Amino acid sequence: MKEVKEISKVKNLKGVRVILRASLNVPVKNGKVSDDFRLEKVIETFRWFKKRGAKVIAVSHLGSDGHESLKQVADHVNKTTPVKFVSWTEKNSDVSAIERMKDGDVVILENLRKNEGEMKNAPSFAKALAKLGDIYVNDDFTVAHRKHASVVAITKFVPSYIGPVFATEIKELSKVLKPKKPFVVIFGGAKFETKLPLVKKFLPIAEKIFIVGALANSFFKELGYEVGQSLVDKKNLGLKKLSQNKKIVLPLDVVVKQNGKKMTKLPTEVLRSEIILDNGQATTREIAKSVMRAKEILWNGPLGKFEEGFFDGTLEVARAIAKSRAHSTIGGGDSVSAIQKLKLIKNFNFISTGGGAMLDYLADGSLPGLDALKRRS
Ligand code: ADP
Ligand code: MG
Repeated sequence: MKEVKEISKVKNLKGVRVILRASLNVPVKNGKVSDDFRLEKVIETFRWFKKRGAKVIAVSHLGSDGHESLKQVADHVNKTTPVKFVSWTEKNSDVSAIERMKDGDVVILENLRKNEGEMKNAPSFAKALAKLGDIYVNDDFTVAHRKHASVVAITKFVPSYIGPVFATEIKELSKVLKPKKPFVVIFGGAKFETKLPLVKKFLPIAEKIFIVGALANSFFKELGYEVGQSLVDKKNLGLKKLSQNKKIVLPLDVVVKQNGKKMTKLPTEVLRSEIILDNGQATTREIAKSVMRAKEILWNGPLGKFEEGFFDGTLEVARAIAKSRAHSTIGGGDSVSAIQKLKLIKNFNFISTGGGAMLDYLADGSLPGLDALKRRS
């Protein structure tokens, strides 16, 4: 990373006030944090700064609408690493707790989306935030595809650096941009619109692109099959034409739920009353065969609705990847939470903390949050 200043290369950070964009946007259910994968990385970064005697002012959003408080996440982090929660917002701008910080202290500020200027990338808010510290470090890859004040505009007002987690993401995902061959791609989950640009980009270089999960339902729908009550994209995405490409592989069999029972059938046999929730074993075997031959594997999106017990496809593919000698990368909030639940996290060479950010970086080779750091260094 030539054009970006890496915080890891800065020698003396003692007493330096660091505004740290961190990935504290983690799933919280009934006040409890239900997924620690991102947080573990954040805590590692906190400790890295603590060791060097910096004063860390960690900032993040939580949820999409700004209603939730980051206090619940701060309380959770506090169980293993001492941090203080500070309810600073642009309107509630008491900085006394920040002024009292000692070297090696970490504070977590309130959910940034409680500030009107955050999602608008407003310079005035970015400036107010920048004033809290001496330098800015972006270590939140998961939000780097957003043009928000704490990601982009802030870099105009304070010396800016890339953090260790973010830098590793770029280094590792760059490998997927120049994949070893054969390159096998597995796309599942939902929201095809966000994944379609990447399907098109990888078609010329991939050996096969498996389309599974709810994404496959959208293909089936556009091919004129009955998909019953299955989850599909509402818009027509021109998938009929795309399905003619031999590199695109759709499920050979699907698992449907009818009257509470699981049943495996052909994609053309689905009834109106049914709902496709996973793929069947014939599909999984086909994917496993390709995976065993591959030298590079990229996977985003679960194969089925794993949260409701439809995890067989996801489990079997993760196991096949574990056996394969290929270099493997997986990303996406739900994908990572699925393999975490299935205890298969060690099976991959790299696990991206990003979902949308990973897809956008792989599609464009750049991200607004990364470009902002380039311009400022
Ligand atoms: P990621 O967060 O890994 O990028 P997505 O957000 O695209 O993944 O999609 C994940 C969601 O898709 C999960 O909630 C999963 O249950 C769901 N899903 C996968 N397959 C199906 C299916 N056949 N029907 C309904 N939901 C599905
Ligand atoms: Mg998701």
